[in-house]
Amino acid sequence: MAKAAIDAKQAAELAVANRILYNEGVVDGFGHVSVRDARKPDRFLLARSMAPALVSPKDIMQFDLAGVPVDPRGRQPYLERFIHGSIYKARPDVMAVVHSHSPSIIPFGVTPQKLRPVFHMSGFLGDDVPVWDIHDFSGETDMLVVNVAQGDDLARTLGNNLVALMRGHGSVAVGATLRHAVYRAVYAEINARLQSEALKLGPVKYLTPGEARRARETQDKVLGRAYELWARKAGGKR
Ligand code: MN
Repeated sequence: MAKAAIDAKQAAELAVANRILYNEGVVDGFGHVSVRDARKPDRFLLARSMAPALVSPKDIMQFDLAGVPVDPRGRQPYLERFIHGSIYKARPDVMAVVHSHSPSIIPFGVTPQKLRPVFHMSGFLGDDVPVWDIHDFSGETDMLVVNVAQGDDLARTLGNNLVALMRGHGSVAVGATLRHAVYRAVYAEINARLQSEALKLGPVKYLTPGEARRARETQDKVLGRAYELWARKAGGKR
């Protein structure tokens, strides 16, 4: 395939997003974030296989939507890059994808308890956060999404939602910008923690679907304020 021409600004922004997700407790040594290539919508940018906190622009690789690296130059890609390509293929509106194993969300993927919005910051959860179960599609596996067929099945479960859980594994969060996807990954984790706390105290009054929609619309407009702070903490301008 032709040599990858990666937009330097997009690569720099993606490196900062990697560090933000580490600082804010969404990713640790594992997990990843991608952006759709601004110049070639049938490609996406994703770091080589490495801890997100250590990603710098030179580590950013370009992939086609089947997860094939355009110009690997010996660099090892993430095993689960198919998550990203399949979502970009299914969702033309999505420009960024976060995949993480953030811990507070895990219980909601393995019990009947649904992840639901407990405060205005997480209205993007809407009224139904789907749970994808790799066992339903592939039977006994190591739980990782390692091919296009599995990625496509996850994307089908995500549907038109902004977050989907992955049973016994983690979650995906998507957005029309990198900032939106990162914000949702951060606040999905915080919501999960608060929801678990609230459930210990008694019956929980969640945001209604109408409240969730209105809260999402407002937060979508103002989340840049949080992002500027996170980016500063992460040592980048954005
Ligand atoms: Mn994973």
